[in-house]
Amino acid sequence: MMSEFDLIAKYFTRPTQRAVLGVGDDCALLEPSVRMHQCITSDMLVEGRHFLSTVDPYRLGVKSLAVNLSDLAACGATPTAFTLSLALPQLDVNWLEQFSKGLWDTAIEYGIDLVGGDTTLGPLCIGITALGEVPPGDALLRSGAFEGDDIYVSGTLGDAALALDVFRGHTSVDSRAFERIRRRLEQPTPRVALGVALRGVANACIDVSDGLVGDLNHILQRSQVGAVLTTDWVNQSAAISKDMQELSYSNRLDYVLGGGDDYELVFTARQTAREDVVSASEQSNTKVTLIGQITKERGLKVLDSDGELITRRFLSFDHFQRSN
Ligand code: ADP
Ligand code: MG
Repeated sequence: MMSEFDLIAKYFTRPTQRAVLGVGDDCALLEPSVRMHQCITSDMLVEGRHFLSTVDPYRLGVKSLAVNLSDLAACGATPTAFTLSLALPQLDVNWLEQFSKGLWDTAIEYGIDLVGGDTTLGPLCIGITALGEVPPGDALLRSGAFEGDDIYVSGTLGDAALALDVFRGHTSVDSRAFERIRRRLEQPTPRVALGVALRGVANACIDVSDGLVGDLNHILQRSQVGAVLTTDWVNQSAAISKDMQELSYSNRLDYVLGGGDDYELVFTARQTAREDVVSASEQSNTKVTLIGQITKERGLKVLDSDGELITRRFLSFDHFQRSN
């Protein structure tokens, strides 16, 4: 029978790339880069609440780290290391093999070390703390949006929430579309390169975990501004996948404006910085779409493609509850 320490040694210990000391002692040791600010973020994934018990453990390993990297990306940080606190209901070597592979593949892709953690028996729960660094003054904050700023979103929106609705039996799509959209839900792509490229370009930034309107509202509140969102881009743009395109405009609006779990970046930038935003997008090989403007007048207005105010609310995120 494998002990707790065998388990840590087998699945969660590898030579570190940059940490001075990784897993195995009472503390890890990191050498901070000179004159950089350290960024620290934690996200916990609880079975039944943030993911379905049937999810592929490899994908769960990817997602657990990806959602943390997404928070670093939203600050414009370069990831450096992470810790893993794991509660496991039993010692399932097949699960551990797959889960740790997803985790390591993601760690290697972003060049970061797993430097420590904790392991215990309990209901399946994955807590990760990720560390990163950013030059002083360059961190992208929720509080930096100004009147007149453009508002952009990266990648595509709504696919993850659509996949969750298919899992719940609320709607259906063909099997190839389902494979594509469930990947967006189960293995989100943290926009790390875009976040870094937006240093000194974006005024404010947040990652979309709970839904575009809800997360944009965090920027508006922290920046004490308002916004007008257009929705012509919901008809057709880089932010709308071909699977989203299959839905009616009204359904699309719900998924794109209200759906969670996309882990895209929403950011604002001065209108005079449009070329810089294009460069950041090209540099990071990440599509971005202009979706609205920051206003002095507080509150969020959503306009339909004729410029008329949409009065329907998109704030009812309790429907989406981040249960994956
Ligand atoms: P302590 O009893 O001193 O808290 P532990 O026995 O919990 O230490 O852990 C032993 C070592 O293994 C420590 O370096 C700890 O950071 C690391 N560790 C424990 N669990 C994990 C995990 N799931 N992933 C990575 N490292 C872990
Ligand atoms: Mg100790």
